[in-house]
Amino acid sequence: MAKDLVCGMQVNEPDAAAKGLTSAHQGHTYYFCSPGCKRQFDQNPQKYVSQQSAAR
Ligand SMILES: [Zn+2]
Repeated sequence: MAKDLVCGMQVNEPDAAAKGLTSAHQGHTYYFCSPGCKRQFDQNPQKYVSQQSAAR
């Protein structure tokens, strides 16, 4: 499982990939629960990626 960084949901990678709900950013693939979440990430990937590293 991967985390949807936009809404925080757990996402099944093969499922998201089959629906095209993935984004590549700086060599990493991100998975989303819905087209809306993917769109938000695509508009401002930095916001979500930096939130994730700050939480660790
Ligand atoms: Zn989502």
